[in-house]
Amino acid sequence: IPGVNQILQQQKEKPKLHEHEDENKRKHRELQESRKTLPIYRFREDLINAIREHQVLIIEGETGSGKTTQLTQYLYEEGFCEADIEEGDEDEDDDDNEINLPGVKKKTKKKMMIGCTQPRRVAAMSVAARVAEEMNVKLGREVGYSIRFEDCSSDRTVIKYMTDGMLLREFLGEPDLASYSVLIVDEAHERTLHTDILFGLVKDIARFRPKLKLLISSATLDADKFSQFFDDAPIFRIPGRRFPVDIYYTKAPEADYIDAAVVTVLQIHVTQPLGDILVFLTGQEEIESANEMLLERTRRLGSKIKELIVLPIYSTLPSDMQIKIFEPAPPGARKVILATNIAETSLTIDGIVFVIDPGFCKQKTYNARNGMEALTITPISKASANQRAGRAGRVAPGKCFRLYTAWAYQHELDENAIPEIQRTNLGNVVLLLKSLGINDLVNFDYMDPPPMETLRLAFEQLYALGALNHKVELTKLGRRMAEFPLDPMLSKTILASETYKCSSEILTIVSMLSVNNSIFFRPKDKMLLADTARQAFFAPGGDHLTLLNVYNQWKDTNYSTQWCFENFIQFRSMNRARQVRDQLEALMERVEIEIQSNPADTVGIRKSICAGFFYHTTKFSKNGMYKTVRHQQTVLIHPNSCLFDQIPRYVIYFELVLTTKEYMRQVIEIENEWLRETAPHFYKTKKLDDDESVKKMPKVLGKIKAELERNYS
Ligand code: ADP
Ligand code: MG
Repeated sequence: IPGVNQILQQQKEKPKLHEHEDENKRKHRELQESRKTLPIYRFREDLINAIREHQVLIIEGETGSGKTTQLTQYLYEEGFCEADIEEGDEDEDDDDNEINLPGVKKKTKKKMMIGCTQPRRVAAMSVAARVAEEMNVKLGREVGYSIRFEDCSSDRTVIKYMTDGMLLREFLGEPDLASYSVLIVDEAHERTLHTDILFGLVKDIARFRPKLKLLISSATLDADKFSQFFDDAPIFRIPGRRFPVDIYYTKAPEADYIDAAVVTVLQIHVTQPLGDILVFLTGQEEIESANEMLLERTRRLGSKIKELIVLPIYSTLPSDMQIKIFEPAPPGARKVILATNIAETSLTIDGIVFVIDPGFCKQKTYNARNGMEALTITPISKASANQRAGRAGRVAPGKCFRLYTAWAYQHELDENAIPEIQRTNLGNVVLLLKSLGINDLVNFDYMDPPPMETLRLAFEQLYALGALNHKVELTKLGRRMAEFPLDPMLSKTILASETYKCSSEILTIVSMLSVNNSIFFRPKDKMLLADTARQAFFAPGGDHLTLLNVYNQWKDTNYSTQWCFENFIQFRSMNRARQVRDQLEALMERVEIEIQSNPADTVGIRKSICAGFFYHTTKFSKNGMYKTVRHQQTVLIHPNSCLFDQIPRYVIYFELVLTTKEYMRQVIEIENEWLRETAPHFYKTKKLDDDESVKKMPKVLGKIKAELERNYS
């Protein structure tokens, strides 16, 4: 990760000379001073007392008050990392340097950790880097982070930031989380699926680990709900300081909110006094096009305007670029930050005075009736809109420009967002909980239960994949699948590659799929060239094989940057895929699968994919349209696909994107006969031509359904 390396590098390069040491000391002192200006600082003692007194505490405070960066440090400074006598270690010797003399029993004193979860990977990394800086330690040592496919922590780590999903996975290796003395479930109001599941699990371990401290921290108004869930745990409210924010609405709805946002930025820039601007967009694509539009229009205005520094921030942005958003604008210039939802509560950027809120975010939606999952651009909730506006009033009175009407705010926005658990596929979580030995998922302690249909569908899918048996118990295959921090369909694909002796190719494909459509680079002024370059990688059989082709050619150049540049390939995404691949390869040992390469056997490769993704089989119907085999849903091959103008009879897709039409992204061609071979639990006949080809699910699933119905009625 470039940003982390950069920090490590800077720290390595710290000169030993006295004057520079003074410089470092000065900087450190300044940081310590700035810590004292945060709203949470005044409550330090009260907070610590409350934490000593209560096992579970709900902490509510305005975004930016210092919860995420300060709580962990306070706890560390107050000795909450000292191993507890009750929990094993009685060694009071404070000496950290161990001497390992022969015959002398090695004394180790392992400190306990303070863990703090974040819903977003970027937040986990960025906050860890900040705290390491404040504590003047190297990131990855005393202060570390852990996100999927990247563990930047060590034996010395005492403060660990991690995504909620990673803490969930830690239960697999350590069911009582004995290494932690404090767990902070941060950003609880975001109500991500993983956070919601964590609630149930940590509540449970807190019961049999009385010394464990549990802090639930949240930005907004859900504190009472959290308190209720945690057996009426007390709420500690940190009063924020907040300046008034004037809110402006548009008179009529905006047809193109990106364009409207760009125009608003420029209007603010030319008419308003200095102060930075924060614009909320829904994702990387929108941010990049707004970025381009702003650069072009400011270039045209030339020196007639003050300097405008445009900075994007989204989850896949490399961390050296992420750090830039925190740097103050030079005197006389204005910063405009184009951000996803991440800037709503997870990251606080000082100096924002203007907020532009188009009123949308990207959300996962799940149709439990047909099991289709898609990312869609959805209107935000009122709670989100208010959070966003609040970002303008942290340092001075601010202004928030909502690119929607006051009427729409009043009548069209929901009060609160729907928790993710109620709008997502639960396959992954069900598999994980089953691996933890939690069998009764119907009566699990949910803050808000998932819809019955979704839970049932998760069981059904896992059964079809072979991860659960007909009694809905975890199978050996299921246990092996749970080793991978991946969607069950991807894990199954990897495990199936053992049969077809192509694990090396499948690992590459899975890694490339996991970097999310950011492989090919398509600049606006060179679209044709970029498309030609992309088409040169097309491989017969489908897009998965095209991705494999890209990766292998890149590998043959010894992972060259230049090669990527020449071929319109995003080097950073490739690097990430490589990193993911390394991590997955390391996990292959755990499931005892040999790495075998069989690049010529594209049938074996495609059969492996089929074994994981048979649910996504579609059959050609007419006029370039496909119908899903399971629900006869009409879908189309995405125009970027290498199979776009080939129209094979059967294809399997990786994901659906919903724009004006329902498109399949990343498709491969398969043979009808493979389905029965690779998914015997699911397809009963050799041919898919009759509608009765899908097997009936076993009786026990019917029973579960009845039980679910009883529970939910
Ligand atoms: P909260 O969790 O209550 O929203 P934080 O602890 O995240 O608050 O933020 C406290 C302060 O630390 C903010 O003023 C923010 O600007 C600063 N801060 C946090 N992360 C960084 C960073 N990576 N670089 C610079 N400043 C940061
Ligand atoms: Mg925070």
